[in-house]
Amino acid sequence: MNYKNERQVAIDAVRAASRLCQRVQQTLVTEETLTKKDRSPVTVADFGSQAAASLRLLAAFPDIPIVGEEDAGELRQPENTALKQRVLECAAPEANGASEDEILNVIDKGNAEGGAKGRFWTIDPIDGTKGFLRAEQYAVALALIEDGEVVLGVLGCPNLPIDSKQPNGAKGCLFVASKGGGAVQMRLDSDDETPIKVSGVTEANQASFVESVESGHTSHGHAEQIAQRLGVTNPPVRMDSQCKYAAVARGEASIYLRLPTRADYVEKIWDHAAGVIVIEEAGGAVTDVNGKPLEFSKGRGLESNTGVVATNGTLQDTVVDAVKAVLNQ
Ligand code: AMP
Ligand code: MG
Repeated sequence: MNYKNERQVAIDAVRAASRLCQRVQQTLVTEETLTKKDRSPVTVADFGSQAAASLRLLAAFPDIPIVGEEDAGELRQPENTALKQRVLECAAPEANGASEDEILNVIDKGNAEGGAKGRFWTIDPIDGTKGFLRAEQYAVALALIEDGEVVLGVLGCPNLPIDSKQPNGAKGCLFVASKGGGAVQMRLDSDDETPIKVSGVTEANQASFVESVESGHTSHGHAEQIAQRLGVTNPPVRMDSQCKYAAVARGEASIYLRLPTRADYVEKIWDHAAGVIVIEEAGGAVTDVNGKPLEFSKGRGLESNTGVVATNGTLQDTVVDAVKAVLNQ
């Protein structure tokens, strides 16, 4: 299968959702919301982004279910009328004339359960909400899963520098990968495709690694011990969202560690599916902290996995060994 049609629809969906997020960030994330730690811009963009993407996915593939982070239940509550109005206003430019009911209905379509059989989309309308509020990194992440396997992934990264060597240069990237079709980087606003590949680093002590900004999402302390064990001297690069997967896929970093902070947390499939295929098709590898492949066939969560270890492939076994050694101490 070449997934040509699905690929184009997914790209259009992620672009529309990314435009919406950019607009919300420019207009609603203000000094005031930041100082008050007011998360309402994220809520508005979350629903709007999922609506913009889902409208396009369902128009092209009405029978493919969507496993999304949001549903519209909250928006339908009478006390949330003002919030609903803001979501509808923000969604309008990307909603192709859809009515209020149509918009709420497509958001609700995000409640599929996933599983091992057939096809479904999984979407994170804004991954890295803290990064979105800080005007740093966030991503719109969309993947197609077929019989439990990720076959297509698209990551929109509106604030990621196009050239990692020019952090102050132009921003706005799109990463696209399909099973057996390789991985490419595009600009959010242009169709030119550049193939990407992981770094050629062969010695762990030469690697640089990426991890979450949020200490609640990954154990920074364990990562530090693992880095020490591997002889990594470069300081960790912290960024929010699946932009970390993109950073490894394009060779900007060689290791991404996501180390459990609590025993009962189950990773969500939409937080990883698109990133995983982008890295794998760029030549890298992704497992959990025990070296096990991530299983996207278990429903909405990665029920049979713990944490994530992603590398350029060459370093995978060495890094997993170090992770096991530190976590099992
Ligand atoms: P990141 O931007 O990589 O730090 O990850 C953001 C994602 O972390 C969000 O989309 C959440 O779904 C997820 N998340 C929330 N709580 C946890 C947790 N305790 N451990 C790992 N991930 C979490
Ligand atoms: Mg997320």
